Amino acid sequence: MANLNSNSTTSLKDKLNFRSYKTSQDIEVPKKIIDQIIGQEEAVETVKKAAKQRRNVLLIGEPGIGKSMLAKGMAELLPPEELQDILVYPNIEDNHNPLIGAMPIGEGKKVVMNHKIKAKGQEEKKNMFMMIIITFILVIGFILQQFLAAIIAAGIVFLAIQQMKPRTSIMVPKLLVNNENNKTAPFVDATGAHAGALLGDVRHDPYQSGGLGTPAHERVEAGMIHRANKGVLYVDEIGTMQMKTQQELLTAMQEKKYSITGQSETSSGAMVRSQAVPCDFVLVASGNLQVLEGMHIALRSRIRGYGYEVFMKDSMPDTQDNRDKLVQFVAQEVEKDGRIPHFSKKAIAEIIKEAQRRSGKKDSLTLKLRDLGGLVRAAGDIAKGENAEFVTIKHVLSAKKLARTLEQQIADRYIVQRKDYSVFKTEGTEVGRVNGLAIIGDRSGIVLPIAAEAAPSQSKEEGKIIATGKLGEIALEAVQNVSALIKKNTGTNISNYDIHIQFLQSYEGVEGDSASVSVATSVISALENIPIDQSLALTGSLSVRGDVLPVGGVTGKIEAAAESGIKTVLIPKSNMDDVMIEERYKNKIKIIPVETLSDVLEHALVGKEKESIIVKMRKITEIVPKGILHNPTT
Ligand code: ADP
Repeated sequence: MANLNSNSTTSLKDKLNFRSYKTSQDIEVPKKIIDQIIGQEEAVETVKKAAKQRRNVLLIGEPGIGKSMLAKGMAELLPPEELQDILVYPNIEDNHNPLIGAMPIGEGKKVVMNHKIKAKGQEEKKNMFMMIIITFILVIGFILQQFLAAIIAAGIVFLAIQQMKPRTSIMVPKLLVNNENNKTAPFVDATGAHAGALLGDVRHDPYQSGGLGTPAHERVEAGMIHRANKGVLYVDEIGTMQMKTQQELLTAMQEKKYSITGQSETSSGAMVRSQAVPCDFVLVASGNLQVLEGMHIALRSRIRGYGYEVFMKDSMPDTQDNRDKLVQFVAQEVEKDGRIPHFSKKAIAEIIKEAQRRSGKKDSLTLKLRDLGGLVRAAGDIAKGENAEFVTIKHVLSAKKLARTLEQQIADRYIVQRKDYSVFKTEGTEVGRVNGLAIIGDRSGIVLPIAAEAAPSQSKEEGKIIATGKLGEIALEAVQNVSALIKKNTGTNISNYDIHIQFLQSYEGVEGDSASVSVATSVISALENIPIDQSLALTGSLSVRGDVLPVGGVTGKIEAAAESGIKTVLIPKSNMDDVMIEERYKNKIKIIPVETLSDVLEHALVGKEKESIIVKMRKITEIVPKGILHNPTT
């Protein structure tokens, strides 16, 4: 595992030889899950504290940032000495109310064995008794010379005694929760569990009642809450759990014990209700912010009152320390996978670079490590396919192409399709038509052409803004936001016009709130009848004052533009540090930072007419830079 000689007194940090490692093999992976969690220091501290005090925890954050890992890590921190085995016994007085017994671990199995041995002894005694009686009957029959009657009598006695069988076996209890081989407190993942699986169930007895079927106590099944006794019950997406089930979960948490009954009302199991079964678990619930909305209020306040809430991070600052953590992460993922080779230092550097890119922010590293782990495995698989000793930078680069997310694949196909149908243009000029940029999924960019048309208003009162396509609402808002700006800057009163705005072939799932600069540009172009350069694409959010505000996903957007054959992109100046496009795109596309709508128009509009409008705008905002009037128009 590790090539380093380390003595147990050195701190973890010293053991990880980050400066002099050659491959990820030289990095020692911490044993405990809690120490393997990267970048979530605050959450880790909270979980440690919560484990000590047996408090519940609510973890809020994006998928794949280590929420379930934290819950598992917490289970490892809970004292295993407290574990119990749980048995369910028949209740002779009330068959429908089986009894429950708890005992130290390992005892449960022994008790069941003892009962089985006893029951077997009883069975043997019974058989012996039966043999004696039958022999006696046959002998009497023989003496009295009544053979037929003797055989019939023996048969009846045999059947009658056989019927007594269930009575004896009833006495053997059932091991409901067995912790015999558990060294650590249990971790039970109840994500998506239905009520029966979560709270326990009593199976249906096809014979309904009477001694013929399986005795009630044997049909009792433990729920996840019972198996999590003294450990951690983890529920991701807590808000999607049925309200009624959440309510029951809360009851179980408060009482620390919960009777098992049949969950299906039509089943005979519903007649059975066990004595209360211990379920003293710590709840670790998680989800994203929206999921919280579906969470039972009382359950939430229970956690708040008797536990901790943690908002988890999805990125961390790009520091040397944090890069080292990603080195540890790669080593961890390789060890965890167990089948892929370790990574060379350069291959790890490429993974770190990808972590920068995926964060989408300047000076940050992504903490969406489940996805990054996918890239590690994909690169590992490629290296393994080539029988390489180590994963090299070459493997990581091919893996990046291979391990594209579904959204990226859709975006790729989208670009190809739209090229085929030439939905967007990448050359020439056109009035009212602009290449906007948007993000689909997490961080895949697409070109989103927008077309605006302006016609003098038909109605006497006021012009209408008509926006079609999926993103209509965004367009409406964008136009309303900029109408004052347009009037102020160009002297044109939008309300004298009917304006049609259309997102051409907009794709479902597109996040479009960063399209306001594009919408404003296309509307101004249409109103003033000035063409837009089609070899250019843009993104940015527009303030009512005409400032271009930063948006998300610029890297993905620029790459998509380059991929589509666009030559220039305009992006908000404040986003410049977030640009981390791949090497191969760097010579393909020119990136121009813009700060104001006038900057945008200056680059996007084409022809002599644009000068007058830009001058007007500059005058109003009083930021006419020297030389602007002499700029050659493109
Ligand atoms: P979540 O529960 O937030 O969706 P998981 O805990 O299931 O995410 O993470 C999935 C996998 O991604 C983990 O098994 C681990 O390999 C990796 N991973 C995610 N977050 C982290 C982290 N903070 N530190 C180390 N590995 C992580």
